[in-house]
Amino acid sequence: MKILLATSELYPYSKTGGLADMVAALGKTLAKQGHQVGIVTPLYAGIQEKWPDLEKMDWKLQVSLDWKSVEGAVYQRKTEDGCTLYFIAQGLYFDRDGIYQHKGVDFADNAERYTFFSKAVVNLAEYLPWQPELVHVHDWQTSLVPLLLKHLRSSGALQRKIASCLTIHNLAYQGLFAKEVFAMANVPWGYFDPAGAEYYGNFNFLKTGIVFADTLTTVSPHYAEEIQGAEYGVGLNGILNQRKNDLTGILNGADYDVWNTETNPSIPFHYSVKSMAGKTKCKTALQRRMGLPEDPKIPLFANIGRMAEQKGVDIMLPAVEDILTGDVQFVCLGGGAAHYERGVQNLHQLFPQKTNCFIGYDPQLAHLITAGADFFLMPSQYEPCGLNQMYSLRYGTLPIVRDTGGLSDSVIDPHESADKADGFKFSRYSANDLGRAIIRALSIYYSPARFKAMRRNAMAADFSWDQTARSYVRVYQKAIEKN
Ligand code: ADP
Repeated sequence: MKILLATSELYPYSKTGGLADMVAALGKTLAKQGHQVGIVTPLYAGIQEKWPDLEKMDWKLQVSLDWKSVEGAVYQRKTEDGCTLYFIAQGLYFDRDGIYQHKGVDFADNAERYTFFSKAVVNLAEYLPWQPELVHVHDWQTSLVPLLLKHLRSSGALQRKIASCLTIHNLAYQGLFAKEVFAMANVPWGYFDPAGAEYYGNFNFLKTGIVFADTLTTVSPHYAEEIQGAEYGVGLNGILNQRKNDLTGILNGADYDVWNTETNPSIPFHYSVKSMAGKTKCKTALQRRMGLPEDPKIPLFANIGRMAEQKGVDIMLPAVEDILTGDVQFVCLGGGAAHYERGVQNLHQLFPQKTNCFIGYDPQLAHLITAGADFFLMPSQYEPCGLNQMYSLRYGTLPIVRDTGGLSDSVIDPHESADKADGFKFSRYSANDLGRAIIRALSIYYSPARFKAMRRNAMAADFSWDQTARSYVRVYQKAIEKN
């Protein structure tokens, strides 16, 4: 199969969250399985300096955006895994400090930047000599692609069938802009109606993708169900319901080449199920790094992630504060909303000997924390898939998660199966309920045999990409046949 993946972020070139990891791993696995894979992504600031082997293609992009014509260039790079990466260069749009925003504020021209990018993707899909059969787009930033492809085909400008698949990584980010923005698509206004690109008078990128893509996926089976209801549907549950026969929930995989306790260079001591001494040493190293007392016996809780409302920071802070009166430690790495950043810093002021936080983005520290902690807190309000709980499982760090979305699909609570349990779940979104799950976790921590058994289960849980990629191929196949 010949697939072009289009994404606004791609690990390790650019990343704000799980999307970057997911597309990189999916592309790599599909290529390993023998498919022809291209990945197209913007050339953000700094990429060329870090990867000087990017090769400029003989390809001049000339993109119409309403009345404007904007030029761009394409660079390519072949990866060791057999994918071809295409970087879309447009200095004004992409060569700036930040991917979507600067200092917490979205760039004012994001709609224009990603309309340009989506048109560049379509241009590649049309003219790449290897003729992709399907374009797999991700989230709102590339959600215009399915409409552009449909329109090209129905207007006769595109002779060949190119199918489209949209993956929704997070329904909350929809790319909602004023109606006038739709003019930059340069397609007839007939598409701008309640059954198409319009959302209560505005232009909704993600809804456009949901309506026009041949097939839809989201990143866990549980989230696929949840988003068809009002509670998690963020106003698009109606349209998702209409397309439910074309919507598949496929749990993301974890990239175990990167998240590997035996080889990752960011972990100071390596370990495996058979030999766990390294994990204890990592714990001490983490305590030292965070300026906390170095004692392997003290249970150590951790959290890593974007500090957004979604991630449950407001129930985590009081729940953690409660347990910090006891003999426990808490470390945290993340950044985002200023009031949450202040919240974790306050915890450090209140309990300087028991907690510390690092505000910022630091992948190496993320590995050390995931390796050194005993428990990983992920009390999300909603969680389309979540990767951190999978990474924690593999690192033998038991996740404590809210029972929602991909967290439901990837963690097994002792209440579900005493033998297979590898983490803890709670249902109601409240600090008390999270607190109760933490108490259950602590009671297991003090029963070493049970704790060890759960750790073993956690490290054996397998979310490798092989099966996940095969599920995508089945979905692609259906979309290609349908066209
Ligand atoms: P989301 O995509 O909603 O942000 P996920 O759990 O799916 O959440 O993925 C988060 C990814 O980003 C993980 O790879 C995690 O390790 C990483 N990450 C998030 N915040 C940070 C940070 N401050 N420093 C390093 N890595 C981070």
